[in-house]
Order: sequence, then structure tokens, then C-alpha cells
Amino acid sequence: MGRRQLLSSTPRTALTLSTHAVISPRGFSGSPTPDANEAHIAHVAHDPYLDDPATLKLAQFFRAKGLAALKKEDRDEQWYADWLAYQAEHRIYASVLSPERFSTLGSRFDVLRYARFLETFAYFSPAHGYSAQVSFLGLFAILMGCNEPLKREAVAELECGGVLAFGVSEKTHGSDLLAGDFTITETAPGRFVAGGTKYYIGNSNVAAMIAVLAKREKNASGGGGERHRRAPLVLIALRPPQSKSLRHLRRIRTLGVRAAYVAEFEVKGHELDASDVIAEGRQAWDAVLGTVALGKFFLGFASIGICEHAFEEAARHLRTRILYGKPAIAMPHLRFAMSQAYARLAAMKLYAYRALDYVRAATAQDRRYLLFCAVQKAKVSTEGVKVMSLLSECIGAKGFESDTYFELALRDIQLIPSLESSAHINLGLTAQFAARYFDRFERSLDEPASLVAGTATTGENPHLFEARTGAVASIAFPPFLRAYRAHKSIPNVRRFVRQIRRFRRLLRDNPAARDLTNIQYALAIGQCLATIAYGQLIAENARLLDVPAEMISTIFNLLVTDFSAAALSLASLPQFDAPVRRRIRRMVAIPQTTQAEWDFVAARSDTF
Ligand SMILES: Cc1cc2nc3c(=O)[nH]c(=O)nc-3n(C[C@H](O)[C@H](O)[C@H](O)COP(=O)(O)OP(=O)(O)OC[C@H]3O[C@@H](n4cnc5c(N)ncnc54)[C@H](O)[C@@H]3O)c2cc1C
Repeated sequence: MGRRQLLSSTPRTALTLSTHAVISPRGFSGSPTPDANEAHIAHVAHDPYLDDPATLKLAQFFRAKGLAALKKEDRDEQWYADWLAYQAEHRIYASVLSPERFSTLGSRFDVLRYARFLETFAYFSPAHGYSAQVSFLGLFAILMGCNEPLKREAVAELECGGVLAFGVSEKTHGSDLLAGDFTITETAPGRFVAGGTKYYIGNSNVAAMIAVLAKREKNASGGGGERHRRAPLVLIALRPPQSKSLRHLRRIRTLGVRAAYVAEFEVKGHELDASDVIAEGRQAWDAVLGTVALGKFFLGFASIGICEHAFEEAARHLRTRILYGKPAIAMPHLRFAMSQAYARLAAMKLYAYRALDYVRAATAQDRRYLLFCAVQKAKVSTEGVKVMSLLSECIGAKGFESDTYFELALRDIQLIPSLESSAHINLGLTAQFAARYFDRFERSLDEPASLVAGTATTGENPHLFEARTGAVASIAFPPFLRAYRAHKSIPNVRRFVRQIRRFRRLLRDNPAARDLTNIQYALAIGQCLATIAYGQLIAENARLLDVPAEMISTIFNLLVTDFSAAALSLASLPQFDAPVRRRIRRMVAIPQTTQAEWDFVAARSDTF
């Protein structure tokens, strides 16, 4: 659907525009959505974000607090006890996180509702949002385990207004989780003692429960972990309020999320029994990886919320800043950079809300969402950094004034690519999908229905509580070019498709190109495939939401450029000979976008 249909006033157009308005970059401070200013549209009668009671309560709290107070607390690194008391009173975290099976309040874990909640949360304060993110991690680690009473207890704690924590990281081991030193040792049949330290653990000052990853050490008689083999992993539940053996060592001061509480703690001689064990061995590992896979995915919505608020501030400043007798935004290079930031932000949102459909539709047989979660981490979080960089170029000194949201956004956006497994790790993971993404298609696989367009039912997906991340090679995909058919009249989409075809041919014709043992090479392949998978879901959502052709053309302009850069990085690796380099060079393409198309995007970004 193009411009002509956008300007007609049929009921279908009203639906189309309302739907697209829901997913366009937006604000929450009372400004209209970008589509709301276009001619002939039926006004979006309700706000699907603020229609949700939990998100509305959240917005009310932060509007009442005001930016000045928030920034003061950020500067003072002041813990947000007022927010936690408010969320406890309204049982906000229990309402968005609790699974239907354990909720006594009639709540359920609805992924669309939770994604919008997190987007709105980060729009107001990523530091406060971090307490919900960490509660999610603590809760899901328990829900993905095998201990039913602990699951019930964790949800009950949320319902009492408590928060949870996730204790996986250790100071000296970072991402190398199998190297951890936190241990539990069996002292008598069914009795254990736990000890060790954990580092960078959010909410640990107030958490009712912490899910802690440990290794099971051999006991005095040599039982427990088997000799000559790596000690098996165990996931245990700690209850800091009831445990004298847990000692806070220090708060770790961080560049981002300054008002949050991230800390190091130590456990010495903590006695526990089997009722505190969440899971053991393979199940413990699966519970941690499954939790991280979803946690990193949901973090992407925080990147979106941060960029939306920063965009709003930058756009307002450039409209009111008069330079040489005109608003600064009238300067063509600023207008162009703001349009690029807008197109990148729209792409982040189109991708993330489409990936959400795959998460909603996931089953034991359809685990495509695992690729899209990795790409969400590798792309959406890093695209957020690019958006902030573009906005920063435009806003100038104003963005460094410490009473702006912008200054906080510049810091916090950079944290997201390294939390819950780094962007590198997720590029490496993405590369592992290359063989199945390009070959042995499962033609019968359908696209999932759309939550945002209203063709998928909202509600809970019970599979998410038992999801497993392994056996990536068994995950099938339908033919990879299907998504682009609807947009074949758009030249930049055709260019992108040509780039994909050439990349696929390179992998197919060179067996050596499929060997991912060299990590630098794997990351370069992962960057190419991540850009392709990103383009796929953007194309799908653009069709489902009838995104105007001008928007699609500019988004694919950026994707063609990004893919060209990824191909050049690949070509510059030392292992390729001249013929392979020549083939990769053919993947480099120059996008072509008309001035009218950029003007269309600029007009949209002007309404922000
Ligand atoms: C503010 C904040 C809050 C946090 N909250 C929590 C929390 O609540 N609970 C918790 O358990 N942890 C938490 N963390 C820890 C966080 O998840 C860590 O970033 C994580 O433990 C990784 O350690 P690291 O960042 O030191 O990176 P390292 O693992 O030391 O990595 C260093 C570099 O190596 C790269 N790298 C590492 N492994 C690979 C690989 N396999 N492939 C490719 N590249 C790789 C990384 O990308 C990075 O560039 C928090 C961290 C911060 C900063």
C-alpha cells in the first residue's frame, strides 16, 4: 500500500493508519503520535499503551515525579525506594510478569503488554526499568526450573510487592559462566552448604529471592561432582531477608542506570536443602540460557523507549533553537540526520514488534524466535546506539546539559548491548543459523499472525516457561526471500535482495566459508546474517502494517548501506584470497532514494 491509499478516507485506511501509529516512534508525554497529524485520518481513539492499567500507573508516577526530580536522583545515584513502594502498592510487577497458572490476581504473562510496558518504562527511566528487567530474570530462572513450590513462592513474593534478582555473573569470569566459583557442597544426604561471591547483581539490596548459579562440588567423601569431569551446575534460590550468611560487599557504581542498585555480595556457609534447588545439571543450564534468551530480547524494547524520549527532546530543541534567523531544523544536514535517526528508530520498532510475534507463536517445533532474539540483541541494541549518535550530532551542547533526559539516554543506551550476553556473543550465535536459514527450507512453515495488527490473539504462551535454546541446526525456516515479495516495486528492497542472494551464493559455493571455528570470521558472517534477518522482519511488518512505500524505501536505503559495510568488513578478513574478495565486493551496493522519499520521512519526524 502506498501514498494514494494513505490519503484516502476509507474505513480500512483508518484502521491502517491507527495500526501504524501504534508502532511508529512515539512519545508518552502528551504529544500526538506521528500519524495523528496526517490529513484525513480517523484519530486513534484510545492509546493501546496507556489503556493497560500497569503502564498507565507507571506513566502517572513519572509524570508526577517530573524530569527535574528524576535527574537529581540520577546525579545523586539515589535508590528509588519511592518507586518500589508505589509498584508494590499497585502490584505492578506482579501484574505484568505473573504466569496465569500461579497468579492469584488473575494476571498472565502477555508478551505484547510486557513489551509496551518496558518501552514506556525506559522512555521515563531506564534505571527504574532495570528493577523490572532483573525481576523478570529472577522469576524466569525459577519458572524454567523444576521446583513447583519455588515457582509459587516467587510469584507470591511479586504479589506481595517484592522484587527478585538473578545472580549469575562473577567478578573474575564475566560471560564464561562455566568457569564460576560459587559452589554448593553436599554435607549429608539432601543437605548442602553454599558459598561464593556474585558481582553486578541488580536488586540484591531488596530482592525477596535471588536465583543463583552455582557448581556442585564433590563432598568430603568424594561424591557429588564426578571426578575428571566438570562439576555439574545447580541453580538455587536464596532468600536474602532470611539468610544471615549473605553479606553485601559493596554497591558497584555504574555509568548507566545510576539510581539502580547493582552490587557484589558474598555467601558463606549458607545451609540449604533440596527444596531450595531450582534445577540441576542440564536443566539448570537450560533454565539460565532460556532466561537470558528472553531477557536479552525484552531489553530491546528499552532501547526503543530510550531513543523515543531522546528523539522527542532533540526534535523539540531543533524546532525552537533559532540559528541565522531560522529554526535549526531547517538546515538540510540536520533535517537529513534527524530523518535518518527517525528511519532507524522506526526500523527498530518494526523489527522488535515483529520478532515479538515469533516469541508469541513459539512452540517446541517452531523455535525460529531464537534467531530473532539473538538478532534483537545484536541489532536493535546497537541500532539504538547509532540513533543516539545521530541525535547527538544534531542537538549539540543541549544534549550534555545534565537536566535533560538526553544526557541520561546517551549513557544508558550504551549499556544495553553488553547486558544479558553481549552483542558479540549474539552475532556469533546468529552465524550458527546461517546454514538452516539459507538451505533445507521448510516450505510449509507459515508466518506467525501479528499481535500489533490484531490478527494474533494476545495472551500467554506456556511454551516460554519451558523453552530450550539448544540444537540450533534443527530449527527450520521457510524460503528466505518470501518476505520481500510484497515490496518488489521498491528499488532499495530489490537491491537488498540482490545482496542477500550474492551472500548466500558465497556461503553455498565455498565450503570453507561455512566453517565458523574462527571467531572473528564467525562474527563477520553473523553481522551479515543479522542484517538480513533484521531486513526480513522489517519487510514482514511493513506489509502487515501497510507502512508507506517512502518509509520502506528509506529504511532499506540504510539496510543496503549497513549490509555493504558488513560485506566490506568480511572481505577485509585475512583468510580470503583475491577471487573470494572480488565476489564479496559485488555485495556492496549504493542505495537510491529520492528527495521526495526523504522529505516524507522528514515530515513524519517533524511531527514528533
Ligand atoms: C549495570 C549492570 C547490571 C548487571 N546486572 C546483572 C544482574 O543483575 N545479574 C547478573 O548475573 N549479571 C549482571 N550484569 C553482568 C552482565 O550481564 C555482564 O556484562 C556479563 O557478566 C558479562 O561480563 P563482562 O561484561 O565483564 O564481559 P566479559 O565476559 O568479560 O567480555 C569481555 C569482552 O569479550 C567479549 N566476549 C565474551 N564472550 C564472548 C563470546 N563467547 N563470543 C564473542 N565475544 C565474547 C564480550 O563481548 C566483551 O566485548 C550486569 C552488568 C552491568 C554492567
